Amino acid sequence: MRFHVLTIFPEIFDSYINESLFKRARAEKIVAIKTYDLRSFTKDKHKKVDDRPFGGGPGMVLKVQPIYDAVRKILGAKRTGAAAKAKAKKSRVILFSTRGKKLDAAAAKRLAKYDDIILICGRYEGVDERVAEHIADEEISIGDYVLSGGELPALVLMETVSRQIPGFLGKEESLEEVNGSFKTYTRPEMFMPGKGKKWNVPKILLSGDHKKIEEWRRGRRQK
Ligand code: SAH
Repeated sequence: MRFHVLTIFPEIFDSYINESLFKRARAEKIVAIKTYDLRSFTKDKHKKVDDRPFGGGPGMVLKVQPIYDAVRKILGAKRTGAAAKAKAKKSRVILFSTRGKKLDAAAAKRLAKYDDIILICGRYEGVDERVAEHIADEEISIGDYVLSGGELPALVLMETVSRQIPGFLGKEESLEEVNGSFKTYTRPEMFMPGKGKKWNVPKILLSGDHKKIEEWRRGRRQK
């Protein structure tokens, strides 16, 4: 699985994808994450990625041309015929938008089947609508709130999609998406924060009775 992230702030990704599960999964080539600076696809000498909205109004809008050229380059537009078609089938171009389809576990599972996912991160007032009309295969929102850009949505999407890829979670795979969510505790059995307070772990979890523990967990899912 290769993620290609189009952004005007590629450095935002560096620290997150170089830690923990992403770090290992990238080293083991389970996932690849490549960022593309939209500025490097501009054609004017000021490297302008944005412009004022037609019809007026505040803010700036990301231009279509740098995004078009970046996506073309990634998809290898020079290929023609069957090879290009086969390649296009296994890739998906996603635009982050507050008006998109809501990202959920089913969408993550569906997206995990692609080989290449291109993620277009908006900024400012958004992205020239022709990107949604002609370039993106789908628009995705990560929730009903407005963020300042598509970079956090891109990290969220990459993480939840990657968790569906065999090997991403490592040896002790714990797919909460499959096994369900339950409350967990760890040592000590009793935590005493002071003033005579005692915070105990449910006794059943200390019983060693795995059947009962499983029942308890199933009865207490947080979802
Ligand atoms: N003016 C726009 C919001 C722009 S926010 C509007 O009212 O719809 C700037 C960019 O951040 C968007 O283009 C989108 O790419 C991203 N973004 C903001 N909130 C998001 C969310 N909840 N989900 C996905 N992307 C989001």
